[in-house]
Amino acid sequence: MTTRIKHLYVHVPFCNAICFYCDFAHQVYKNDLVDKWLNKLSQEIHNECKDLYETIYIGGGTPSCLSCDQLEKLLKLISPFSKNFLEYTVEVNPESIDIDKIKLLKQYGVNRISMGIQSSDDNILKSLNRHHSFADARNKIRLLQDNGFNNISVDLMYSLPGQSIEILQKSLEDICDLNVPHISIYSLTIEENTVFGKKGYKPLDEDTEADMYDLIRSYLKEKGYINYEVSNFAKRGYESKHNLAYWNYEDFLGVSVGASSKIGNRRYTNTRILNKYLENISNKDEDLILDKDDLKFEHIMMSLRTIYGLDIQRFNDLYKTDFINEFKDIIEGNKLLEIKDNHLICKDLALLNSVLLGFLP
Ligand code: SF4
Repeated sequence: MTTRIKHLYVHVPFCNAICFYCDFAHQVYKNDLVDKWLNKLSQEIHNECKDLYETIYIGGGTPSCLSCDQLEKLLKLISPFSKNFLEYTVEVNPESIDIDKIKLLKQYGVNRISMGIQSSDDNILKSLNRHHSFADARNKIRLLQDNGFNNISVDLMYSLPGQSIEILQKSLEDICDLNVPHISIYSLTIEENTVFGKKGYKPLDEDTEADMYDLIRSYLKEKGYINYEVSNFAKRGYESKHNLAYWNYEDFLGVSVGASSKIGNRRYTNTRILNKYLENISNKDEDLILDKDDLKFEHIMMSLRTIYGLDIQRFNDLYKTDFINEFKDIIEGNKLLEIKDNHLICKDLALLNSVLLGFLP
């Protein structure tokens, strides 16, 4: 029996320029390369997509860096599977989204936009190799809102080189003034393969990072955002349905370069190298069968990231177990854990990592 997969992720592996901190699977936009990629993606979608998805997420990379024709081709490829969705998100960047692309997204039913802004400080934006100013971002958010997109998420970063608490505070104020209902905010991690990594940049010290996280949580709470996941904040009703599926450890299909899928006990990731993908769409970087202990731990780890916690009944049904009995000692021995409405909840998301250690198989 095949189970229905409800969530689809599509990765667009192109950007107009590469940000100095970024380690995603991507390359600088080249018109002919995008056309080749679209042809291969069409094959992969034809082979792999079988369901009508409840959530669809086109991420990247930068989907909005495609030309209008290429973006329309991509949306058309997905349209047979987007007839019954609850949420359809496309990631955009301020410098490449324009009125024609906004109209196209609307026409194909996209109902949620995620815009990478990262900071409202133009010097910080330059130091990250972002090719837009904060004024550009604000104008594009307004353009989206004027054209009927109200469900907008903004990405921000903290713990950046040169970013003081005051600069971060100003970014939070500026973003809240945009009146967007969802904010994702991640601390900088310096990966070896990035420009920051190669230049030997070091992250800010742990105390400053912790102070910044405290500021983010308290400021956004005051502004009416719920910190529903470690790094995600939303006005009530605007939580990301697609990302909640990941955190609830549901199955999902990912297509294109570098995209991961989890289907039952199998998790696999397509090759991150565009040329290998163009040679053969079946090339994989990882293809694993997870055993029951791995599945259980990952399920707990993902579910505890949100304030909704782990659905104990669903866990019991999936793994034919009695969760409370199996993890009795850990649950009773940790004051940060509580059971509410048959869900296990971590009471302080800032301390989640220490809680998870107890569940390691
Ligand atoms: S952060 Fe976004 S825009 Fe910048 S290089 Fe990475 S994927 Fe591209």
